[in-house]
Amino acid sequence: MDMLIDGKLIEKRETIEIKNPANNEIIDTVPQGNREDVKNAINAANKAAKIVKDIPSRVISENLYQIYEELSKNADDFAKLISLDCGKPIKDSMGEVERSKQTILLAAEEAKRIYGETIPMDACSGGENVIGYTTKVPLGVIGAITPFNYPLNLVIHKVAPAIAAKNTVVLKPSIKAPLVALKLAEIMNAYLESGTINVVPGFGSEVGDEIVKSDFVNKVSFTGSIKTGLNISKNAGMKKLTLELGGNDPLIVLDDADIEKAVEAALIGSYLNAGQVCIGVKRIILDKRIADEFTDKFVRATKKLKVGDPLDFKTDIGPLIDENAAIMVEKIVDKTLNEGAELLCGGKRNGSFYTPTVIDNVNSKMEMVQEETFGPIAPLIHVNGFEEAIEVANDTKYGLQASIFTNNINNALKAAKEIDAGGVVINKQSTYRTDNMPFGGCKMSGMGKEGIKYAVEDMTKTKLVVINQPGKNS
Ligand code: NAP
Repeated sequence: MDMLIDGKLIEKRETIEIKNPANNEIIDTVPQGNREDVKNAINAANKAAKIVKDIPSRVISENLYQIYEELSKNADDFAKLISLDCGKPIKDSMGEVERSKQTILLAAEEAKRIYGETIPMDACSGGENVIGYTTKVPLGVIGAITPFNYPLNLVIHKVAPAIAAKNTVVLKPSIKAPLVALKLAEIMNAYLESGTINVVPGFGSEVGDEIVKSDFVNKVSFTGSIKTGLNISKNAGMKKLTLELGGNDPLIVLDDADIEKAVEAALIGSYLNAGQVCIGVKRIILDKRIADEFTDKFVRATKKLKVGDPLDFKTDIGPLIDENAAIMVEKIVDKTLNEGAELLCGGKRNGSFYTPTVIDNVNSKMEMVQEETFGPIAPLIHVNGFEEAIEVANDTKYGLQASIFTNNINNALKAAKEIDAGGVVINKQSTYRTDNMPFGGCKMSGMGKEGIKYAVEDMTKTKLVVINQPGKNS
């Protein structure tokens, strides 16, 4: 596939091979973008921004609806490409495409709802006979940098609100799974002013770094690891920043919980996309009184999951993004077992595949639960009652989302108040997101919110207009 700059598809002699994580076969190549390509893309985006800012929002909205139609027509192709590009089981890839369609629709709707407000200037002395109002104006060029794990929907979560707010975009998708973004951009380009969307595949240390440091990019919207996020915040200078970073979400099960439902939720939360989800359940905190019952049911359900070919509809768990990622998971599991935890099932690596794994007797000091483990691992931590559960849930530098299972309304509400996270989910896994809700973590999990309305807000600036009216006191 080619890169897209100024409305044109561009080939390059230097290319990068893109491999299917399931079997390591080369599925395609992409041009290896460099700093010069990024500068060209930013120039094109800046040129287009001067035109796009004056396009009526009705037209922008219609264009986004057309892109939605096109994505819908190509849904099966996109789902297959997601599975080939990042190893996601096909049924989950289809789910990602469905969500992506909704995300575009939300942006098409939001494009027509970008309001300013009137200011009661006369509430302050000196404000008599003065009219004040605000408008929301585009920022200009948005730099979008995305990870591998949701290569369609997370790209749309940046590109669609940017376009809805009349900005232009330079996108760097993850080099581990860039094909989906390139295919999407080709479709979008057909309905947008040339230069509105530009995509430069390549390495983060070069392509991403150039976007972040450019004086001609007005905002960087980044999703990825804490390590890269910190680097970006050091290098971005006076730009607006949204950082959607890693998570270490707890799922608490209290002694009054519906255990069947908690097990179901923990299965989704721990193993969706082979555990490579920012809001994946990464720690299961069990009240001692129900720990045995939960563990027995959860281990039995885990053993039934089918690991295999991502293109097979029966597959529940595909490979990790590459063999290195699986080796990292293997190492952290071995370390945790050496520290005294107990393996209840799984714990086997085969190339880039890792079996779903339950580990008991984990404590919150262990690296496995202090750092984010991006794999199909469910560590169980035992606690004595509500207060200790909340203490353990908060004992981390992360604060993306959290979940609690309880039938006691007081405990549910107290948990919602006490857990320090961007979102607290009651009686459902933390791995829950609708694409319109405000989404984004606190602590080291990031800053800023996505969710179309919130992203649009963050991709505009507020401009104040003051009119001095001729009158008695003017
Ligand atoms: P990553 O390694 O941080 O990479 C993310 C993106 O940043 C990639 O496109 C990468 O380029 C680029 N990058 C790397 N170094 C850079 C630099 N110096 N300057 C600018 N860009 C640079 O993350 P990942 O492994 O792809 O994704 C997994 C992480 O993302 C996990 O921590 C997960 O929790 C987090 N995540 C968070 C959310 C959320 O919404 N909070 C959602 C999904 C994932 P390359 O192509 O070279 O890798």
